Amino acid sequence: MALSQLSQTLSPSQTPTDARGYDYDLVIVGGGIIGLTLASALKDSGLSVLLIEAKVASAAVAKGQAYAVHMLSARIYQGIGVWDKILPQIAKYCQVRLSDADYGDVVEFATTDLDTPELGYVAEHQALLQPLQEFVQNCDHVTYLCPAEVVGTQYQQDGATIEIKVAEQIQTVRSKLVVAADGARSPIRQAAGIKTLGWKYWQSCIVAFVKPEKPHNNTAYEKFWSSGPFAILPLPGNRCRIVWTAPHEEAKALCALDDEQFLAELSRRYGDQMGKLELLGDRFIFQVQLMQSDRYVLPRLALIGDAAHNCHPVGGQGLNLGIRDAAALAEVIQTAHKAGEDIGKIQILKKYERWRQKENLTILGFTDLLDRVFSNNFLPVVLVRRLGLGIMQRVPLVKVFALKLMIGLKGRTPKLAKL
Ligand SMILES: Cc1cc2nc3c(=O)[nH]c(=O)nc-3n(C[C@H](O)[C@H](O)[C@H](O)COP(=O)(O)OP(=O)(O)OC[C@H]3O[C@@H](n4cnc5c(N)ncnc54)[C@H](O)[C@@H]3O)c2cc1C
Repeated sequence: MALSQLSQTLSPSQTPTDARGYDYDLVIVGGGIIGLTLASALKDSGLSVLLIEAKVASAAVAKGQAYAVHMLSARIYQGIGVWDKILPQIAKYCQVRLSDADYGDVVEFATTDLDTPELGYVAEHQALLQPLQEFVQNCDHVTYLCPAEVVGTQYQQDGATIEIKVAEQIQTVRSKLVVAADGARSPIRQAAGIKTLGWKYWQSCIVAFVKPEKPHNNTAYEKFWSSGPFAILPLPGNRCRIVWTAPHEEAKALCALDDEQFLAELSRRYGDQMGKLELLGDRFIFQVQLMQSDRYVLPRLALIGDAAHNCHPVGGQGLNLGIRDAAALAEVIQTAHKAGEDIGKIQILKKYERWRQKENLTILGFTDLLDRVFSNNFLPVVLVRRLGLGIMQRVPLVKVFALKLMIGLKGRTPKLAKL
């Protein structure tokens, strides 16, 4: 089915209310990458899934973002069976270079550190979202309702009632479980009264795409300037994506520069390793925050992805954590369903929370520590971090541990992930 022809109403045949009054086993609110990943991961579960996305499918695809996609995320998509549609459209990175601004001691991660053909991938938003949208449309048990907006949820002891605005009409469905994959502001989380902890950073993030004169050689760079981390990620067609963090005022001023001045500033941070740069398209500025939900579950409700947590973009972790949430929740509820248990029961959902909340907190803490230690000119801190980088480059055990932590190979692996 063409994306523009997605279901716009819930006809009676799409809502086969079962004997106990459920129209669906679960309703996923939000068809971003994370909501779509969960729906795809449940394709063989026997659970009936309703996935609801507020934006028109073509508008959801057209987001000018790109992400570092970690090894574990790739393995999860292999397990789902969608990776062969994603891989041809994305770039691989085979080398990562970490440096403290222009300080000579550089940490170099290479494929030989893990004995793998690559270290990770970089994907533009549509290269992930579109194959996932197409995948869920071919899943027998998934109804993909788009555009449609969830405008109300009520939770009862034995289920949840979800009000959906679709084609200017309100329709109501009942399910055993609601999954909020509705992004950082998560109206579903807020309406359920789940509190969050965290803070907004003193930095904003500028995102831009460039084309360097010389080949990028599938190398990713993270340069820690005292104003904030600066990442260069390789993309197909010898393009690169820049993620440049700087204090708010500086970031705003940089964004206000004309293209020529912006490129001159960019080249100063970038270095001359790839020759002259050409700016491709517009630059965008994002607010950066750290947020962890006080709880990931309530009876009949689970949070995944940005609805549950947000982190600093250093290390490209946010989306990858959400992909792991989706795989973990799919595993927990599928196991419960097979054992004849109620997937919306708090005792079941707590298994997901225990698995993911702590693991995400570790990464949130790690990205926060990286940002604070490197966005700092205090001499003792500078000396200690440079010593740390030197140790990381020279002690293979430390280096491989840090690499595995960054690309998701530490912690509990979902069964879905193909090893
Ligand atoms: C500058 C920057 C750089 C980043 N770089 C990386 C990176 O390199 N690697 C990485 O892993 N992560 C990165 N991230 C993080 C990443 O962008 C997010 O973690 C990820 O996009 C979250 O996806 P999501 O599906 O949870 O939420 P979203 O993408 O926000 O999707 C939520 C969806 O829910 C829909 N929705 C909301 N409310 C409703 C409703 N009531 N009814 C129906 N639908 C609704 C919305 O329309 C939306 O489509 C970066 C973030 C920033 C800001």
